[in-house]
Amino acid sequence: MHRASEDHRSVEFPDLVLPLLDQTRRLFATATGTVALFPSSGSGGWEAALTNTLPAGSHVLLPGAGQFASLWGDAARRLGYEVTTFADLAWGAPPPPDRIAEALNSDRDRHIAAVLIVHNETSTGVTADLPAIRRAIDSTGHPALLMSDGVSAIASLEYQHDAWGVDVAITGSQKGLMLPAGLALLALSQRALDAIDHGAPRAYFDLKPMLAQNQTGYFPYTPSIPMLYGLRESLAMLREEGLPEVFARHARLAAGVRAAVAAWKLSICCRERSAESNTVTTIYTPDGVDASKLIKHAFTRYNLSLGGGLGPLAGKAFRIGHLGDLNEGMVLGALGLVEMALLDSGVKLDPGAGVAAAQRSWLAS
Ligand code: PLP
Repeated sequence: MHRASEDHRSVEFPDLVLPLLDQTRRLFATATGTVALFPSSGSGGWEAALTNTLPAGSHVLLPGAGQFASLWGDAARRLGYEVTTFADLAWGAPPPPDRIAEALNSDRDRHIAAVLIVHNETSTGVTADLPAIRRAIDSTGHPALLMSDGVSAIASLEYQHDAWGVDVAITGSQKGLMLPAGLALLALSQRALDAIDHGAPRAYFDLKPMLAQNQTGYFPYTPSIPMLYGLRESLAMLREEGLPEVFARHARLAAGVRAAVAAWKLSICCRERSAESNTVTTIYTPDGVDASKLIKHAFTRYNLSLGGGLGPLAGKAFRIGHLGDLNEGMVLGALGLVEMALLDSGVKLDPGAGVAAAQRSWLAS
């Protein structure tokens, strides 16, 4: 990324951009879809997805529970959309396909224009079952688009844009792609693309000039060229390892983290075994142990950055992120330091218990 930039209007620039768009399509596993790269963080991807494909004022169903589902809903409301949520869904529960089908079946006048799913809820460590949600939508015959926020999923968890029938997927550069924040990546199905003539007002995030210019390898405004160099390298790294191998590595490392948590006798936020995230684990601290203090202590004493409990989990939970450029050694280091921070905070555990449990889980796999 740190090299002299090139002229983004030069005749050579498409040599960078066109293969990058092609490789990005592969990342999303789409042969028939269209991808777009916006210089923005993941939140800009939410805005681009909504405003390009949904007429102003339309209704969306947002059936997830967690901080990022809430923030996506807030963004949608501020953009003028009507948002229906399952307010009683517990944080830690995945979006329920049967209730999605029920909600769509009762929407007889077809007001709901899209179902918004956070594929991997980074606040709770819960992964949604996108294929089951697609089947639930199909079972109703409802025409709503299916949108997936894959910010903490894409390039770390299996994702099949075409095969799973997702209409718009969004990710950001700073997680599975191992880059700094600053690039939002979108994948759109043909149905989503057909909808962009009837979307809401937008300017910076307008897909029309973006896709028109992308066809010949250019952008409608100055792209973040270092991010494009970074993306080229991160996609090459993912290709080198192989996406199935990348997904398997995340599954293996996550199993080790969960084994450690079990050995510490702590509980995780995710309520369903099959929904446990392979990119982040949200762990409750025992009663009487303030998670915010634990996180601060881990940072100041051990230089270890743990994720904080978000929303209602603030002070009650901490998060271990385990995605991207990561191997067993790095995870063991983190687990060892978490143990020390927990011990310093008065949690009773045997030093090394979590580390040994992770090792045993990997030795057995
Ligand atoms: N969606 C999810 C699932 C996230 O984890 C995040 C950020 O962590 C976002 C959206 C927002 O992305 P950004 O912070 O890049 O705007």
